Amino acid sequence: MNDPRRSLPSVDRVLGEPVLARGIETLGRNFVKDRVRTALAELRAGAGAPPTSSRAPSDASAASLAAAVADALPPAPTSLREVINATGIIVHTNLGRAPLSEAAQAALIRAAGATDVELDLDTGRRSPRGEAAIAALATAAGAGAHVVNNGAAAIVLACHVLAPAGNIVLSRGEMVEIGDGFRIPELIAATGVEIREVGTTNRTHLRDYLEAIDARTGFVLKVHPSNFLVEGFAGGVGIDVLAQEAGVPIVVDIGSGLLGPHPFLPDEPDARTALRQGASLVIASGDKLLGGPQAGLLLGEPELIHRLRRHPLARALRVDKLTLAALEATLLGPPPPVAAALARTREDLRGRAHRIAEATGGRVVDTDAAVGGGGAPGVCLPSAAVALPERYAAALRAHHPAVMGRVLDGQLLLDLIAVDPREDADLISALKIILGEGGP
Ligand SMILES: *Cc1c(COP(=O)(O)O)cnc(C)c1O
Repeated sequence: MNDPRRSLPSVDRVLGEPVLARGIETLGRNFVKDRVRTALAELRAGAGAPPTSSRAPSDASAASLAAAVADALPPAPTSLREVINATGIIVHTNLGRAPLSEAAQAALIRAAGATDVELDLDTGRRSPRGEAAIAALATAAGAGAHVVNNGAAAIVLACHVLAPAGNIVLSRGEMVEIGDGFRIPELIAATGVEIREVGTTNRTHLRDYLEAIDARTGFVLKVHPSNFLVEGFAGGVGIDVLAQEAGVPIVVDIGSGLLGPHPFLPDEPDARTALRQGASLVIASGDKLLGGPQAGLLLGEPELIHRLRRHPLARALRVDKLTLAALEATLLGPPPPVAAALARTREDLRGRAHRIAEATGGRVVDTDAAVGGGGAPGVCLPSAAVALPERYAAALRAHHPAVMGRVLDGQLLLDLIAVDPREDADLISALKIILGEGGP
């Protein structure tokens, strides 16, 4: 008879409510319209009590419905949320790997509009794409440089340029699965290049390589086992020996993207050392230990780099202006968050953990943090954390910004090594809210 569902306002009526004007401006009309439609559909289905008013039912319900929709609108039309990385893993793949420095963030925002990525503003003519970013990388690596979408794309391009319709030689000890089920040998096989596996899981000798190399061999590939350790009776052949003896180019996938040796990570390979040892080409990711945007770095002999850049596939793998801007700022600007995290001391981290625990409850514990993301496997970084009962983990993940810790032995550890000190205040306020709700 007097079913309030009949008097539901129209979508346009709700959209016209002033309370939604700001949301429409920041999120777009279609985005907000979708939310209004969903809210109306829920009411029609009886999911919630429809808002009514005795005086002007349709008007009032439009206003209160609009208010409810406005309340639930996100701040931006993207679902990606900010996360405080309290996992104790500095380069966390599921959290987007390296966080960008402020300089890199500013650079990519500046480049977001029309920008001179492929234009010489002095002459008004076309210029090589991302010239300055590539030059910065070349200078830092002391070699020719090219940049593609990611490390995997760099491997694909190297296969097409250096081993078309041929083979490459790869040790069985370096047949790496890089994550999410993707494997380097399968990636290479997908390019149509044949892989000649040599040696065994634990040991590969120079003679294994030499027996496998033939006239169709494009290169010997060395892959850094970046996410696991082989200990005991194990060994491979160094880049220097292969470069002298193999008679074909040596391509080295170092994984993490260190351009030079790192004082705290003595076992992590770096580009300059690999090139000095005789590698023709070094491949690395931009968003691991380099601390920059997702990118695949190709570093090596200028003539070879030129061939890589001119291959038709290079066009399909090329990076956008945002990547180039962020990469250049990472290379030339202040140390990125990954470098800052690596430099933190346990003493410092304990101090911060004490201040947080005092404000919120929780215990301070020492932890072993990790580089993560395919870098420095087995390296324990001395760190400290605030320990809480595990039951708070889900609520902290649901908070804005989300707080992601790690659960160990029934405890939730909020490890501070990868947390910027400027995020401590956000962490404290999240903890106050969540621990307050959860009782003592
Ligand atoms: C991470 C990694 C890759 C893959 O690089 P992406 O940038 O993720 O495509 C390849 N090889 C090694 C050794 C790695 O560690």
